[in-house]
Amino acid sequence: MNADPLPPERLQLSARELADYLSSGLDHPVSVVITHNRISLIRLRQKPEGGSELRAHACLLQAPPETLRALKRFLISHRRADWRAVCAFLQTTPRESRPVPAATLRSAGNFHDLQAILDDVNTSFFPGPCPCRITWGRSAGRPRGRTRRHIAYGSYHRDPGLIRIHPLLDDTRVPRDFVAFIVFHERLHASLGAETRGSRQWHHTARFRSMERQYPEYDRHQKLAQTLFRSLDKPEPKRKWSDVLRLF
Ligand SMILES: [Zn+2]
Repeated sequence: MNADPLPPERLQLSARELADYLSSGLDHPVSVVITHNRISLIRLRQKPEGGSELRAHACLLQAPPETLRALKRFLISHRRADWRAVCAFLQTTPRESRPVPAATLRSAGNFHDLQAILDDVNTSFFPGPCPCRITWGRSAGRPRGRTRRHIAYGSYHRDPGLIRIHPLLDDTRVPRDFVAFIVFHERLHASLGAETRGSRQWHHTARFRSMERQYPEYDRHQKLAQTLFRSLDKPEPKRKWSDVLRLF
């Protein structure tokens, strides 16, 4: 789920749709190659025969509209700020890879045990066995010298049925019930799936939103989602020895 308000329906584009969107109005076409490369997330090169080729990680297909618009603007005017906005999105999104072997899943964090939280969420809100596994995403690091404008706290990948939670949430300052709310959002995706209209898939449907709003203290969690990630980017203030001693 995302901290910034998004349009009510969020698209999952195909590579073809992304290429069409980026190429429209340009003199030369842009071809799109989708990768699962976690090191090189995005690369743009001019093709000797004309036009350009964009190689990007699959999570770009789930980018919010403002990120796609920034990419399009960059192709037209080559403003570095637009390119940086696209890179920032890719760097802060937990990245789906090819099917993950169970050995690489990591649900026990330093502060929060995701498997225990998923078990609780499943028992409380979803009948039947849980159809998905859960893991902490890989750390993408803190953005340097910039304020984060957006973060994906979690993501759900239908194939291979995996919930990823952003590692920034494995922090003493994040209440367990907030992590549970994020897990609930992703678990709801596993239950409801996507609606296909034409060639597009819609995940945050009206039905999804109305079921999500029934989560206990929904408004409080939503409010926290808008601000929490900014404070987590700052290191936790160190306690002075004098404060610690006062506790005893
Ligand atoms: Zn979602």
